[in-house]
Amino acid sequence: MALLDLAEARATSVSERGLERYLASLAAFDLRDVVTATLQLGEEESQEFRGVFPQLGTIIARTRQAQAERTKPKPWVPCGRCTAEGYVFVNAEGVVCDDPSSVPNRRLRECECKTVWRAARDAARLDTAA
Ligand SMILES: [Zn+2]
Repeated sequence: MALLDLAEARATSVSERGLERYLASLAAFDLRDVVTATLQLGEEESQEFRGVFPQLGTIIARTRQAQAERTKPKPWVPCGRCTAEGYVFVNAEGVVCDDPSSVPNRRLRECECKTVWRAARDAARLDTAA
């Protein structure tokens, strides 16, 4: 349980009532982000924080930060086979041509690396919206 681990890391305890209140507020967030936030807060060794359980607002702010970090769109990087815009030349059969200038009836198709990247990005967006 992330909150109890955090209490232990801070060398303090949290009441059951307090825990319930925290959990009710944090339930709206993705558990992965809450765990990331509480781990970060627990690792901050600053002496002033020892014996003090972080305020709910602090945990929420860190959880939002973790969520933003996790869902931030990662830039697409060309795989090396495609153009800077993410296209490859394919022949009439749809097979990628390594030497397009010699292939008649070639056409551009989006490279697989970009298709996969776009799908991952869209999935992360849906994840955030849920
Ligand atoms: Zn590519």
